[in-house]
Amino acid sequence: MTEVRSFGRVKVILGPKNGKYPYGNSIVVEDDTTALIDPSLWVFESNGKVTERNIDLLFNSHYHEDHGVGNCLFPDHPLHIHPLDAPAMRSLDTILEYYGMDEATNAAWTPIMVEKFRYQPRDRFVDLHDGQVFDFGHTKMRVIHTPGHTGGHCCFFFEQEELLFLADWDMTRFGPMYGDVTSDLMATIASLEQIRALQAKVLVSFHHVGICEDGQDALVTRYLDIVYERERLLLDFLATPRTLEEVIKKRIIYRKDYPDVMWVDAVEKNSMLLHLRKLIEEGRVAQEEEHYWRCP
Ligand SMILES: [Zn+2]
Repeated sequence: MTEVRSFGRVKVILGPKNGKYPYGNSIVVEDDTTALIDPSLWVFESNGKVTERNIDLLFNSHYHEDHGVGNCLFPDHPLHIHPLDAPAMRSLDTILEYYGMDEATNAAWTPIMVEKFRYQPRDRFVDLHDGQVFDFGHTKMRVIHTPGHTGGHCCFFFEQEELLFLADWDMTRFGPMYGDVTSDLMATIASLEQIRALQAKVLVSFHHVGICEDGQDALVTRYLDIVYERERLLLDFLATPRTLEEVIKKRIIYRKDYPDVMWVDAVEKNSMLLHLRKLIEEGRVAQEEEHYWRCP
C-alpha cells in the first residue's frame, strides 16, 4: 500500500521507511498535465501505479541511480534534467566517471546499476535551468538549480503550495553529500543558504526526513553546520602532516567504516579533496608534495 500525502495537486509518494535508501520519496503532480519527479525504486516496484493518470512529463532532480529507477517505465518520454547532469543519463561510462570510483568498484557496481536500479541510457532530454517555471494547469513549479551534490542538482519549488522538493539535500543527521567528481563544496554551502532563504513551509526530501512542516530553518542550519563540523575535524587531524590516503582513512564523512558500502573510499576522497582545496585557498592548510597540514 503506497502512502501518499497531498498538498493541493502535488502528491508526495512516500517510499518505505520515509524513503530510506535504496528507496526514496517521489512527487506526482496531478493537474491538467501530470508530472512525475524522481521515480524511485518504490515507483518502479509499483509498476508506476502510484497515480491513476498517464504521466505526461518526467523529471529527474539529478543523475543518481536511486532517483531514476522508474524512468525505465517511460522509455519514450524525454527526460527533464539539468544539462550538466544529462550526460550521465546518456551513457554508463559517463555516470561511472561522474561517480569517481576506482575500476574495481566500477566493475562491482555496474551490474547493480543495471539490474537493481534499471539504468538504461537515454537520448532525449529537455534542459532544466534555474528559474524556469512549469505551468501544469493550476499548479506552477519553479526550478531551483542547487549544485554541489552534483553539478546539475535541482530542487523544485511549488510556490502556491509553499512546498519545496529538496531531492538529495535530504536534511539527515549524516549531512550533505558532495562525494562525486561533479560535486562542489562552495556550491553546496551556497545552495543550502539559498534553500534556507526560500523559507518554504513544507520541505520534502527524497530520503529519511521525508516531509518537514515544523522547524525548517533549524533543520537546514543543522544540516549546513555538519559541513563546518567536518572542516573542524579535518583541521584537527591536520595538526600533524598527513597524506591524502590518511585523510581518506580517517572517515571524516562517514565517521566509521562501512565494509559493505562500496563507495566509501571514493566519497571520502572526493569530499576531502574539496575540503582541502577550500582550506588551502583560505590559507588555513598548507600542502607540500604528498602532505597536508594545518597552518599555525
Ligand atoms: Zn544524489
